Amino acid sequence: LKRGAGRMKKISKKISRRDFFKLGGRGLATASAVAVAAVIPKTSEASTSLKGKQLAMVIDLHRCTGCGACTIACKNENNVQEGFAWAWRISKTVGKFPNVRYDYQPTLCNHCQKAPCVRICPSGAMHKADGGITMHDPNKCIGCKSCIAACPFVVISRNDKKTHIFWRDKKELIKDCTTSGQEVTQKAGGKVIPYYNPDREKNLKGSGLRYKGIVEKCTFCDHRLKQDKLPYCVERCPAQARVFGDLNELNSPVNKLLGKYKPQRLREHLGTEPKVYYIRDFNPGNSRQDKGRI
Ligand code: SF4
Ligand code: SF4
Repeated sequence: LKRGAGRMKKISKKISRRDFFKLGGRGLATASAVAVAAVIPKTSEASTSLKGKQLAMVIDLHRCTGCGACTIACKNENNVQEGFAWAWRISKTVGKFPNVRYDYQPTLCNHCQKAPCVRICPSGAMHKADGGITMHDPNKCIGCKSCIAACPFVVISRNDKKTHIFWRDKKELIKDCTTSGQEVTQKAGGKVIPYYNPDREKNLKGSGLRYKGIVEKCTFCDHRLKQDKLPYCVERCPAQARVFGDLNELNSPVNKLLGKYKPQRLREHLGTEPKVYYIRDFNPGNSRQDKGRI
């Protein structure tokens, strides 16, 4: 713990030293960095209070088509970098040829009520926030990976390498055809860092950028919730398979669905009380098996 506290001190020093031009890599000039710092929104912009709520998500597997739009939407909204996904899935092929089908179950952080990741975190970085959301404070994280070991759902990722290398890469995406990541960073002209998420910064200072050596995971898009918006994966799901709301509100859409169908949660027997519920079955199992007859 002593070693952890020392490292924590070092990390927080490191973070305070991290000005944006340094994070932007070679592509950003000092002057641009100063301009970027100037456009960081103030933390007080968030408004809707999540106090007293128990926020939860219901995923209707009968509606889910397995299109993966949630994964892409989440990456887009949270600037999730290459190789990571906060919104993921469990997929498998079930049955024996010719009677085979594909099963798809979207996954994300379950924002467990009794979250083992929070219990084990020695620095207080992983914590429970308003709305019952399991949040991560990058400023406090010492990168020890205890949370990763404790989470039974494999939904936490650690930045082991330099982050967002794409934006430092000089290679064209398609040779002699497109621009490179580094060029985009330069062309942004210091008004925006392509991998900077200003909305996150509004809620938690220092969370707009990610650093090597710390972990990250789904936040239920708390920055959107505080603006009275739904998580972006819920918003973008084309099949309306994701429904979000407050378990403490009797007539909330989530409570209605949980009352109507028999819900399931992942690894319920472990007692972590996940707040992502699944109802019904993935569609193909229920679909018509033949085209009829004459
Ligand atoms: Fe923590 Fe894992 Fe539960 Fe999310 S799913 S709250 S990371 S234990
Ligand atoms: Fe806490 Fe996980 Fe960071 Fe360790 S790696 S300090 S357990 S959040």
